[in-house]
Amino acid sequence: MNEIKLVYIVGYGRVGSTLFGNFLAATGGCVNVGEMYKCFFDEDMYQKSLPCGCGDDLPRCSFWSKVDFDASSEVRREVGRKVRNRHIFRNFKTYLKNFPKIKSRFKELNERLSKCCESNVVVDSSKNPAFLKFLVDLGAEPYVIHLVRRPSDVIRSWSKSKRYLKKKNIIKTIFDMAYYEYCIKVACKEIARHKKIFVKYEDFIESPESEIERVAKFIGEPLFISRLEDDSFDVPLSHSCAGNPSKLDQVGRVTLSKGKSCSRRSLSDVLLGGKYGY
Ligand SMILES: [Zn+2]
Repeated sequence: MNEIKLVYIVGYGRVGSTLFGNFLAATGGCVNVGEMYKCFFDEDMYQKSLPCGCGDDLPRCSFWSKVDFDASSEVRREVGRKVRNRHIFRNFKTYLKNFPKIKSRFKELNERLSKCCESNVVVDSSKNPAFLKFLVDLGAEPYVIHLVRRPSDVIRSWSKSKRYLKKKNIIKTIFDMAYYEYCIKVACKEIARHKKIFVKYEDFIESPESEIERVAKFIGEPLFISRLEDDSFDVPLSHSCAGNPSKLDQVGRVTLSKGKSCSRRSLSDVLLGGKYGY
């Protein structure tokens, strides 16, 4: 197996990255690992013990038990403390020199993963901008997909809890979204222009075939998805870490719907999404 080609989805929570990741994996040309790096390198996330996309607990899952990786609680605590969006301006390279164990664990995870994956293209949807910067400083050369969704729809999604995902009030969501946008801008500054693209969730829902084709051209891999007769898509089970709990329902024959988006633009759409055409 060749070295891993990492595709990193960056963006705010509930922008549809779980569904998007599942569809990329449905092409058969890449492996959707969900929020793998965050799950294995952040103690808080690790302690949540969120189920795999196959429904099993990670240690018992047929895929992750084969990968059999443990970064160690020492590494997870260290990374969890340092790799935060509030440290987005930090040069993690200097920090990593003082803590070489992190780099060796990162290398080990990628090696173990490459032995267990059927494709060398791995899609990670950790979304966190600080984690993106951290991965770049670790030596990963990710293809970055900046995924956005209409802000008023994101706010509506956060107003409801979903199994293990808690809800968030509107003020906090707006503040967090604006802060994330700023951190994404900082993290993406170091990414070469040909290594980053921007995807709107609504464009993907409207035409998943063409958005996946765009991603395929971007990463230089043959990715195709085709619509079944009843307008649905065949989405196989993914061994994705964390992410939206709806991942457990988004398998088999999946029909995409635009949802209950309001036709009128809200103030949040203008302020937070205006630059994306919302
Ligand atoms: Zn699994």
